[in-house]
Amino acid sequence: RAKTEGKGTYRFFEAAMGAQIRERRSIEHDLRSAIANNELSLAYQPQAQVDTGEVNGFEVLLRWTHPTRGKVPPSIFIPIAEDSGLILKIGEWVMREACHEAATWMRPLTIAVNVSALQLTSDGFVEFVQSTLSQTKLPPERLEIEITETALIRDPNRALQTLQKLKALGVNIAMDDFGTGYSSLSNLRAFPFDKIKIDRSFIQAVHTNPQAAAIVRAVLGLGRGLGLPVIAEGVETSEELRFLGLEGCTEAQGYLFGRPAPIAEFVPLINDNVVVLPQPLRRAAAD
Ligand code: C2E
Ligand code: MG
Ligand code: MG
Ligand code: MG
Repeated sequence: RAKTEGKGTYRFFEAAMGAQIRERRSIEHDLRSAIANNELSLAYQPQAQVDTGEVNGFEVLLRWTHPTRGKVPPSIFIPIAEDSGLILKIGEWVMREACHEAATWMRPLTIAVNVSALQLTSDGFVEFVQSTLSQTKLPPERLEIEITETALIRDPNRALQTLQKLKALGVNIAMDDFGTGYSSLSNLRAFPFDKIKIDRSFIQAVHTNPQAAAIVRAVLGLGRGLGLPVIAEGVETSEELRFLGLEGCTEAQGYLFGRPAPIAEFVPLINDNVVVLPQPLRRAAAD
């Protein structure tokens, strides 16, 4: 009896795994033609000054609307794009679109683009960035590249060389999802980062979990000590923003300031003289 049950369980897992593999293959197959079919688009999320709500720039987030599946979340399709190598073509599309867009703005705001490990260590990546900047006429210092620690681990020597060349072009480098990766502290010293992004998971636990609050304080202290600006991601409430302001965090990004949205929603703001978002934390220390 145990034997037949075991066999049944095995068959069940085999079937489930088969379905999962077919699902991945199907997504990969459809992703292959997503650019040509105009299914990809970019969402822009503001990055703002904590004390004034003034916008410094935007992060670009990829969106895929599949003809039958509808919106497929990046957490599903980005890993598939990375494993299949499709991220190289898709990433080039994102970079070109984003730089082209940012170059049209009437104010010199920054544009932050996420770059995967495979892209960072691929042949000709620096040359690609350089030619994109010159074709779009976007000044290099307005481009920020967001890298996670996982991207450094794959091929650290190569990653370091590439980051140094990008920096030499004048491009800024941000460490994304800080605190969730591996040897965070030594990576900050070994690689030429210009900015630290505190991961959303710490921000969202800041009022319920004393450890998360301690980590946020420590990262802010680290940033001050290293002379690196720190941005908090995933700020959703004014309580979180208030905490950040009191702890000396100067920049934030999250639903409180704005959800990722098509750039058309922000263009009037961008072309205004001063871009101020709702809910800024004013006089945090005073009241
Ligand atoms: P990420 O770079 O850490 O991006 C931040 C994620 O947090 C985004 O999720 C954003 O929509 C979400 N977010 C921002 N503010 C809030 C908030 O206040 N609350 C909550 N709950 N979430 C917030 P999204 O767009 O689903 O992207 C997920 C990840 O996919 C990104 O994490 C990034 O690693 C990757 N990704 C997105 N676009 C690209 C791309 O163009 N290229 C590459 N290589 N990766 C990308
Ligand atoms: Mg990012
Ligand atoms: Mg992040
Ligand atoms: Mg992330």
